[in-house]
Amino acid sequence: MIDTNPEFMTALKKQLMAQVAEYPVNKQFDMRLAKPDTWIIIPFNPSAETPRIHVLIGEKYALVIDPTDTPYDLRTYIEENVTDKPLLVANTHSHHDHTYANYLFDDCTIYMSETCRNELQDNRDNGRFRTDLLGNTHKSMNPGTVIKDGDIIDLGGRIIEAIAITPCHAPSSILYLDRTAGILFTGDEIDPGQVNMWNTPVETFRDNIVKLLERRNEFDMICAPHNGTPMHADILKYYLENCDRIMSGIEGDLDVGSTTYLLNPFENRPPEAIEYRRWDPVTRRSFWKGTAINYNVDLIFNRQLNEPHRTARTNPPKKD
Ligand SMILES: [Zn+2]
Repeated sequence: MIDTNPEFMTALKKQLMAQVAEYPVNKQFDMRLAKPDTWIIIPFNPSAETPRIHVLIGEKYALVIDPTDTPYDLRTYIEENVTDKPLLVANTHSHHDHTYANYLFDDCTIYMSETCRNELQDNRDNGRFRTDLLGNTHKSMNPGTVIKDGDIIDLGGRIIEAIAITPCHAPSSILYLDRTAGILFTGDEIDPGQVNMWNTPVETFRDNIVKLLERRNEFDMICAPHNGTPMHADILKYYLENCDRIMSGIEGDLDVGSTTYLLNPFENRPPEAIEYRRWDPVTRRSFWKGTAINYNVDLIFNRQLNEPHRTARTNPPKKD
C-alpha cells in the first residue's frame, strides 16, 4: 500500500497548487460552455473540493456566481478569456468556499441574501478570516448588496431573479433563476452529489422542491457549484421521489460518506472525522436515481422539530 497519510497529501496538494500558481492564468482555470453565453469555470485543484464558478453574459453586464475559494486570479482569467463586459457578482450563500474570492471583485456590486451579508459582516467585525490553499489570507471588504425573493438583476436582455426557499444547507442561501436562458442556480441547496441537510427536516426540503417544480416550465437546466454541473432540471423529480421514499418509511444507509469523501486521498480528512461521518447513529444517506439526501433520522417531518430529537453534526463533537 502507498502511504497516503493526511500530512503527506496536504503537502503534496499545496506543492501542486503552488506550482500551478507559477503558470499563466489561463492554465489555472478551465472553462466549459453550459448554454450560449453561460460559462462554467473550473479552478485547478487536485481534489474536487473547489466549487465551480458560473459566468452569465448579458448585453450590458456579466454576472459571476460564487467566486469560490480559489487561490488563483479568477478575475483576470474572466476578463482575459470569458468577457469584457463590466462584472456583477452574486453569492448563493456565505460559506467560505463560495465567498472567499469575493475580494477580487470588491469594486463590483456583490449581491447576496440579508443573512449572508450579516454573516460575512460578522466575520469581518470579529476578524474571522480564513486562509486559502496557498496560505494567503485575502479579505473582502465589500459590504454586500442585499437581494430578496423576487428581486431582479438585469444584465441587459437577460433577466436573473432571486428566489428564496427555506434554507436546508445554509441559513444564508438564496437561489438565482435565469429567466432568459432557463437555468436555475442553486448553490448547495440542490446538488448532484448530495444535499446535506443535517438538522432541517426532510419535509422542509420537499416543500422547497415542490416550490421549484411549480416554476419548472421556466428552466430546463440546474447549475450547482459542487459535484458536477450542469444537470437536467428533471433531477428535481427524483429529489421529490427521494423525499417521498424517506417520508414513507424507507430508511437510508447508516454510512453517510460518499466514495470521494472516503477514498480520494487529496480530500484528507482525519480518520476520526471519516469514522464519525460513516457511523454516526443520527444521520442517514438516502440514494435515489442519482440523488442523495443526508438527513437526521429524527427529523423527517416538520412537526418533529417540536419533539425531542438528537442533533446531527458534520464533524465529531470536540472532546474536552
Ligand atoms: Zn455550502
